[in-house]
Amino acid sequence: MNILVINAGSSSVKYQLYDMENATVLAKGRVERIGMDTAILMHEPAGKPDFHKVDEILEHTTAIRRVLDVLVHPEHGVLTAISQIDAVGHRVVHGGESFKSSVLVTDEVKKEIRRLFDLAPLHNPAHMLGISAVDANMPGVPQAVVFDTAFHQTMPAKAYLYPVPMALYRKHKVRRYGFHGTSHKYVSERAAAFLGRPLEQLKLITCHIGNGASCAAVWGGQSVDTSMGMTPLEGLMMGTRSGDLDPAIVPYVMGKEDLTIGEVSSMLNKHSGLQAISGISSDMREIVEAVEAGDKNATLAFEMYAYRLRKYIGAYAAAMNGVDAIVFTAGVGENSAPLRKAVCEGLSFLGVDFDEEANLLGRGIEKRITKRGSKVEALVIPTNEEWVIAQDTYSLVQSQSD
Ligand code: ADP
Repeated sequence: MNILVINAGSSSVKYQLYDMENATVLAKGRVERIGMDTAILMHEPAGKPDFHKVDEILEHTTAIRRVLDVLVHPEHGVLTAISQIDAVGHRVVHGGESFKSSVLVTDEVKKEIRRLFDLAPLHNPAHMLGISAVDANMPGVPQAVVFDTAFHQTMPAKAYLYPVPMALYRKHKVRRYGFHGTSHKYVSERAAAFLGRPLEQLKLITCHIGNGASCAAVWGGQSVDTSMGMTPLEGLMMGTRSGDLDPAIVPYVMGKEDLTIGEVSSMLNKHSGLQAISGISSDMREIVEAVEAGDKNATLAFEMYAYRLRKYIGAYAAAMNGVDAIVFTAGVGENSAPLRKAVCEGLSFLGVDFDEEANLLGRGIEKRITKRGSKVEALVIPTNEEWVIAQDTYSLVQSQSD
C-alpha cells in the first residue's frame, strides 16, 4: 500500500510518499509560495535527481495537482499512475477535545475540524484546504487526519485547566491542549524500545525542540502534562516565540506601545524568543556560532533557552515524582550538542550522569548521552512525524476494509 502524507500550510504543502510494505520513502518534497506566480515545487524522488520547478500556483488544489503530476512524471516520478496511491494522511494541528486519536475523514470530521478554526486560525483552515484539494484531485481515495493535540488528551484536569473563571472553559474551551503530540508519542515509544523496557513502566520527559518547542511528561505511555497550552505560544522559549511570560505584560505593553491585539500577538509569536534576545537569528546553529565567536547577546539567548528548558524538566520530574529518561528530539534536540550539554549538566541533582563524548558522536541516530549506570538516562531520538501519520492512516484504512 502507498500512502501520501500531506502537511498543508497556508502558503505551502509538504508531502511524503511511503511504500508501507517496505517501510520506505518513495519521494518527498514541498510546494512553497502558494498564491504567487513564483510558487516553487521542490521534489526529491528516491534514487533519482532532485527536481525544482517555479510556476504559477494560486491555490491548494493546483498545488496538490502539481504534486500528483510530478509523482507520476516519466522522468521525475516514482509511480506509473495516481491510482497507485491508496490513501492520504494529513497532519492537523488542532483536534480540540473532539479528537483523541487519528480518524478517517468523513463529512462529520470535516465539520468538526471547521468548528475548531477558532482555536487554530493559522493552521486548521490550511489543513482543510489540503483535504479539499485531495478530494478534488483524487475523489474517493480514503483520507485520514492525525492531530498534534490528540496524544495530550490524556492529561488530567489539574494539568489542562488554567486557574481562571471556569466559564471560560465551559463557554470558550479555554484550556491546555498541547501540541507536537505525534512526535512526543513516537519518541516515547522509541525510547522504551531503545531502553528495552516496557513503556507502561516508564516516566519520560520528552523535549521536542525545533523552531517550535515543547516538552511533555509521559507517564506509562500517556501524556500527563505538556508545556504548550491552548496555543503553541506557551511554555519553552523558542526560535521566535516567547514561551511563558507574566500575562500582565500583555496589557501593559499594549498600553505603553499603543499596540493592537494583532501587533502584540505578532510580537510574541514572530519577534521574540532566540531572535529577540540574540538580535541575530532564531536558528540555533547561528546562535551557537555567535556564542563561539564571543557574542554577548547570543550567549544570553542560549543561556535563557537552556535554563528555561531545564526548569521544565525539573517541574515534570516533580509532576511524576521521578523520571527514568529525558529524550531530546527535533531540529535542535537532535542536532545541537552544545544545547543538550547545557541542559543536562545542570541536572546532576536528578541523577543525570552526562556523557560528553557520547553527546558529540553520531548524527541522526538513536543514542544514549548519559554514562552507563546513570540513574536517569538522557537519550537522543530522531523524530518521524510523517511516518506516524502514514502508519495511522494505514491502520485506519486496513481496519475499514476488514
Ligand atoms: P520545525 O519546528 O519547523 O519542524 P525542526 O524540528 O526542523 O523545525 O527544527 C528546525 C531548527 O532546528 C532550526 O531552526 C535550527 O535552529 C535547528 N537546527 C537544525 N540543525 C541544527 C544544528 N546542526 N545545530 C543546531 N540547531 C540546528
